[in-house]
Amino acid sequence: MMTKILCTTLLVEKSPQALPLGAACVASAIKHYAGTEKECDVKLISFSREDDEIQTLESNEQKADFIANRLLKENPQIVCMSVFVWNRTIFELCAERLHKHNIIIIAGGPEITAHPYIFEKSFDYTVTGEGELKVPRLIEKVILSGGKKLSKEEILSCYENASIKDLSLLHSPYLDGTIDPTEFGGALWELARGCPFKCSYCYESKGEKTVRLFPEERIDKELELFAQKKVPQVFVLDPTYNANKERALALLKKIARITPDTFYYFEARAEFIDHQLAKAFTKIPCALQIGLQSADENVLRKVNRPFNKKLFVKNIGILNQEGVTFGLDLIYGLPGETFASFCAGINFAASLYPNNLEIFCLSVLPGTDLFDRAQELNLTFETTPPYNIIKTDKFSPQDKTKAQQLAQACTYFYNDGRAVPWFLTICRSLKIKPVDFFKTFYDFAKKNNITLDCCEHKTIEENQIKFLTSLYKQRQLDRYTKAATDIIRFNGAISRKTATGISEKIKLTYPPEYIDSQYSLDLDFFVKNVRPKPCEIKI
Ligand code: SF4
Repeated sequence: MMTKILCTTLLVEKSPQALPLGAACVASAIKHYAGTEKECDVKLISFSREDDEIQTLESNEQKADFIANRLLKENPQIVCMSVFVWNRTIFELCAERLHKHNIIIIAGGPEITAHPYIFEKSFDYTVTGEGELKVPRLIEKVILSGGKKLSKEEILSCYENASIKDLSLLHSPYLDGTIDPTEFGGALWELARGCPFKCSYCYESKGEKTVRLFPEERIDKELELFAQKKVPQVFVLDPTYNANKERALALLKKIARITPDTFYYFEARAEFIDHQLAKAFTKIPCALQIGLQSADENVLRKVNRPFNKKLFVKNIGILNQEGVTFGLDLIYGLPGETFASFCAGINFAASLYPNNLEIFCLSVLPGTDLFDRAQELNLTFETTPPYNIIKTDKFSPQDKTKAQQLAQACTYFYNDGRAVPWFLTICRSLKIKPVDFFKTFYDFAKKNNITLDCCEHKTIEENQIKFLTSLYKQRQLDRYTKAATDIIRFNGAISRKTATGISEKIKLTYPPEYIDSQYSLDLDFFVKNVRPKPCEIKI
């Protein structure tokens, strides 16, 4: 009789970025392993915290009940769980329920890798690191033992020599049909594993510093599959896509040829950008996300991230010159960071015209170098997931609250408000720094009961205009209000047209040809030199 195996995970959200790739890779490996392929019927079942049924459930117990009941419907003998910071508690509860039905639970994933021993009571078997060799071996032994608990020696024998040096040994879960990217509206595309860097807060900080590449043949076939399935977007999993320039250029060429209409997201390092590479990125629809994390070299040194500010500015300038869309990441609560240096980081990042500015709270993740050095660095952090920083010797809980507020204001006003084309122009007209702008906006939103959750862009736009009208009035700069309103409406309508393809009519005070010109970069010059001419235009 075939052994029914379920590979599962609970995703953080419903998006192509949160596709269950880890669980799919393990499912695929079980399907192809000689000792399990003929013995097992493997199925991938994933859940998301945003699934309608799960979202409405209040407690973790209820969520665990829901997931367990769904899994039980499949009559599995073995369930493999992919455990992350956000699903750990629910999966522990879920395992309790499944154990009542004599189901064997194998757990892997980042949370298990970080501290396997504390989970030994919750799950029958815990697998650290990559699971594609260990899990099938374990399942083979469990089946041979007739479901009896394996001895320590038997378990260890499954883990011996299980590091995957050659990625060509692995099967692609896309190519063997384990996962269909169209179901998730896009794909996570693994090009490499490992990272040449060792940032202290990252799981890679204790890795081998080597990068293993997936074979070209697999990458080509997956690209063909994305084209055939018309996958709309692909998130590239390679922490430093551009570290090897020749490889990056060659792949960009292939992407442009095979999937010209697919939108790609890359993680890139600013220090390896040059004109040739930037130009190549412009040949495909794509966006780069670049980790800045802090603008303070001393802070970055403490987390093992060498940083050359001049080179960073120069290379980001190249992206802007060539017209590459990019976003920047910042982290608050890093060791040595003060609230003032964090604010300087926001000002610095915003000055580089990023398309989006993502601001995260530091997580001191078990299994990282930062976790090991937390005491020495005076870090106080949550002892349960998501392990967020509470305070450091330089960053108080009050600083953290203020940083959270800035992050919220920036996400709403700048990122979701698509403010990059005009944000610095507006700041200059108010003689205000980006960080003070966000703080003032946060206070305005609070006073006016504006909830800073992502909503329709048009609603955000109205709130942007409301805020600026009030701020210009308060600072006796009303002369800029109409021009600023035009610029916001004009760019907003264009961004909506680009995103949805839907045209709309907008009313303007100034002629559109001037709004869409270099003149609009300087509001003072604009209002002094451009004559108002009210009109209605179709975007
Ligand atoms: S944060 Fe990114 S660059 Fe740093 S070690 Fe991790 S994967 Fe590598």
